[in-house]
Amino acid sequence: MQQNNREAIRQILIFNQEGMDEFASYAKKAIEDVMNCFPDYKDRFPIKIVGNWKSGNYRTYENGKFNLTPYESIDWYIEQAKKKAIEEGRWEPTKQINVDEMCHCLLLDPYFRKIPQFGIYLTKYDLYSYNASNYCLGQTVPGGFSVISTNRFWNTNKFDIANFQTVVQHEFGHILFFTNGDRSNVKEALGPHCTVAYCIMQQRMNGNMSDITEKRLFRKLRGFPPMCPDCSKQGVSTLDRVCEIYKNGLVGR
Ligand SMILES: [Zn+2]
Ligand SMILES: [Zn+2]
Repeated sequence: MQQNNREAIRQILIFNQEGMDEFASYAKKAIEDVMNCFPDYKDRFPIKIVGNWKSGNYRTYENGKFNLTPYESIDWYIEQAKKKAIEEGRWEPTKQINVDEMCHCLLLDPYFRKIPQFGIYLTKYDLYSYNASNYCLGQTVPGGFSVISTNRFWNTNKFDIANFQTVVQHEFGHILFFTNGDRSNVKEALGPHCTVAYCIMQQRMNGNMSDITEKRLFRKLRGFPPMCPDCSKQGVSTLDRVCEIYKNGLVGR
């Protein structure tokens, strides 16, 4: 297979709340590590940091105040999740936002339909969902996008880059359907998760990914991928399917 300088089929775009550029670059590196495990597809799925995106008409002036225009900025999506949290009495005590609401709005994103993409959305707010009512580190719509919070990776003043990157890779793995398929080493725990003892696609119900991060870094030093061969295989099958759809789309034009 030809490997270099082929046309991009689908971009992997990283968006973030204001003031989070540093975290976007940690996320990019994490995803690069995963995509490096798929050399035949790497150039067709380029990774790009978009940052705190807003369109030209991201806000309107009405009755003496500015309002964010629906779907026209990252801040608007976060505002929706925050509004929901206020409604549900979560914002005041815990400063958490409702990730289900954010995913719901992102599913209706008109740009998502126009520009083929996998999206990573970073927020500094803590997340809760109807499934994980206490808190969650991230949530993914497979085949689409992930919303990930940096909030739980702060240990006093130090940011735990390695554990954050494990979670980014895990959520990105859900985007690529790593834990799909008829597999004996996948079990249901808030979505399908891998049971292979070193794989990043394992679930930790207490949110502590440190043991997985340790194994991941150990493997990385030795040139091994962060996921197991079965998760890898599912990744190839997803990327291949996306390429097929693209090819067939061209034929039909
Ligand atoms: Zn998961
Ligand atoms: Zn696995």
